[in-house]
Amino acid sequence: MPELTLIDTHAHLDSTDYNEDRAAVIARTFAAGIGVITVGVDLPSSEAALKLAQRHRFIWAGVGVHPHEAKTFNNEVNEALRKLASDPKVVAIGEIGLDYYRDLSPRKVQRDVLAEQIELANQVDLPVIIHNRESTKDMLAILRAHRPRRGVIHSFLGDLDLAREFMDLGLYLGIGGPLTFKKNDILRDAVTRIPLERILLETDCPYLTPIPYRGKRNEPAYVCYVAEEIARLKGITSEQVARLTTENARGLFNI
Ligand SMILES: [Zn+2]
Repeated sequence: MPELTLIDTHAHLDSTDYNEDRAAVIARTFAAGIGVITVGVDLPSSEAALKLAQRHRFIWAGVGVHPHEAKTFNNEVNEALRKLASDPKVVAIGEIGLDYYRDLSPRKVQRDVLAEQIELANQVDLPVIIHNRESTKDMLAILRAHRPRRGVIHSFLGDLDLAREFMDLGLYLGIGGPLTFKKNDILRDAVTRIPLERILLETDCPYLTPIPYRGKRNEPAYVCYVAEEIARLKGITSEQVARLTTENARGLFNI
């Protein structure tokens, strides 16, 4: 394994999409010098994420219940997550958040479950990995009320004003494949102005595949296309983007 040059801070390596060739995907990732934070979306996938992290030196895990699965959260799940979080390879509580686009759990349940998991993150002193889709107003209210100590807004898609609101709360912004999509000029404008010190790279694989592979399954190795697009927007080299965003990820997740 060469030196770690990039970190994909948001992947779903436990996804069934990798059941046929997970080992090959991971081998390509490591061969490219890429480390991965793989996140759970419910208790079983959080356990699966941790197992992957325990088996591989350059994989770390987030554990949490995604807003789609919020209806599966209860006190027992909370305590199970707390137990998982004591493992040194667990570096975040996530993926947690709100999703009013798909509304797969009732909104009130999503809000309560998000708040509880932010409290859990603060108790175990881990950063949060936040999913936010068409729920920004309630998200900001919950973040202001429950104040995660540190964390990232994963797959940030907003404008510069919204980026500033999240940065004012001390949060990082996770930037992924959508940065390369034709329609996302507002996001590109925001990323051009957001300080690199506040940006993390991610794929959200197997979803959100960047150009030139859009339409195919995503994987951590494609995080380099996100780094290249940020470099182009900011007029710097992709090595500079890689170096600083890797430092950001190491600092936030303490890896
Ligand atoms: Zn995700």
